[in-house]
Amino acid sequence: NIYGDRQNSLGRDYSTAEARDAHAVALKAVDAETLTAGPIIGGKLLGGTNAQDVTNPYDRAQVVGKTSDATPEQVDQAVRKAAEAQVAWDKLLGSGRAPVLRAMADTLEADMDRMVAILSREAGKTLNDGVAEVREAVDFLRYYAMLAERDFGGRETLKGPTGEVNQLVLHGRGVFAAISPWNFPLAIFTGQIAAALAAGNAVVAKPAEQTPLVAAEAVRLYYKAGLNPDLLALVPGRGETVGVALTSHPMIDGVAFTGGTDTANAINRGLANRQGPIIPFIAETGGLNGMFVDTTALKEQIIDDVILSAFGSAGQRCSALRILYVPHEAADALIEGLKGALAVQVIADPSDPKTDIGPVIDAESRENLEKHVARLEKEAKIIARGTLPADAAKGDLFAPVIAEIPTPDFLEREVFGPILHVYRYDAKKLKETASALAARGFGLTLGVHSRIDAFAEEVMALVPAGNVYVNRSIIGAVVGVQPFGGEGLSGTGPKAGGPNSLIRYASEKAISINI
Ligand code: GLU
Repeated sequence: NIYGDRQNSLGRDYSTAEARDAHAVALKAVDAETLTAGPIIGGKLLGGTNAQDVTNPYDRAQVVGKTSDATPEQVDQAVRKAAEAQVAWDKLLGSGRAPVLRAMADTLEADMDRMVAILSREAGKTLNDGVAEVREAVDFLRYYAMLAERDFGGRETLKGPTGEVNQLVLHGRGVFAAISPWNFPLAIFTGQIAAALAAGNAVVAKPAEQTPLVAAEAVRLYYKAGLNPDLLALVPGRGETVGVALTSHPMIDGVAFTGGTDTANAINRGLANRQGPIIPFIAETGGLNGMFVDTTALKEQIIDDVILSAFGSAGQRCSALRILYVPHEAADALIEGLKGALAVQVIADPSDPKTDIGPVIDAESRENLEKHVARLEKEAKIIARGTLPADAAKGDLFAPVIAEIPTPDFLEREVFGPILHVYRYDAKKLKETASALAARGFGLTLGVHSRIDAFAEEVMALVPAGNVYVNRSIIGAVVGVQPFGGEGLSGTGPKAGGPNSLIRYASEKAISINI
């Protein structure tokens, strides 16, 4: 059993003074530095175009670092270099590549405090979210190293007719474009690269425009861990410019993308129209995630799990809970409980260990969320809102909301932030209620709270979802334990962090020899 002795990365326990001290030291060091990002090609940080400051979403006066965007010429250069280096990397097989990924895992783990500090300053992550993210990145590296050894060992002999040798071999496709989101700017960034590398590809990675700094740090750590710099280039910038230059490049052999459903569709259309081969598109996109509760479920447990699922990471996870479906009989008590739980959430500086909810990623996101709140005020009912600190205006803190919606299909699409919608349903109309959610076409996470197995099974049969969670929170999928990814409008698969993760990063060659 190759999974037998696998271990997930251990984190930091911020209830200990020692861990908090280490964090404070790391934060101070990061604050004293000006972090740098920009195009990194052949291991060198180059000057790009559109030089800009990256600021702290909690306090826009704080400059965290400097970055610039890759030019189309730099994107071209990165792809060509990667294509050249990939051939030798592919020949190493899984056993030759895995040690580099494992070394990167160790390097990253050793740098945990620094990375948590950067995640807090650049992406507004709380300490717990930051640690969880570093751990996830480390887990992806070790898990994909293991899969590389399992599946990329050279030719496997298949049984066939006497007088013939039949073999199957998995190999890298060439150069992968990896396009990652700001909400997991380290874990998903590192994970996409690790998957592509493990399968024998080279990578040109475009981080989200909001979070180039932590991405540049991760790229440097890959080099430090021994990766040939030509195998991994960083091309920061906007999707409309750098993303398009990258995905329309004729020498790209695959695209791994995590982000919005609309962007995924735009990339897919672009791939269909570009010159060059037909290539795999691995997309992990948005969700419209519901949780269904029945009258047998335990109220206190539901409240804990709902608060974490809806407001953890400031609701900025594609797995986050958007709509809670509560039966009429249980609704009043549950809503009261949720109000109480929201009232004690600390919304503040994410680098403070006491903070539960940090800022949203940028002003545009905050303004869109406020627009949605204005709609809720008119067409639904606001039940509760979190309290912001007095100095909230210096950044993009957003006061979380709980609102009751009048119809089960009130939301057409995901609203990406800490807004929980509650719908009271008639237990006799579970099917209609669940079908209204299913009809939106997403299929990422789904929660059920019940002590009746048949209820969970019924909900599961009605609402499509790649990840179903029963009697627990619906966020924080763990690598190798809860392979993560959706269906329908939520993504193409394969899941991240599962036994089948690498297959679409690879090509299969069947060889038949008549002897
Ligand atoms: N894997 C994360 C989770 O389970 C969500 C990833 C995302 O938001 O893209 O919460």
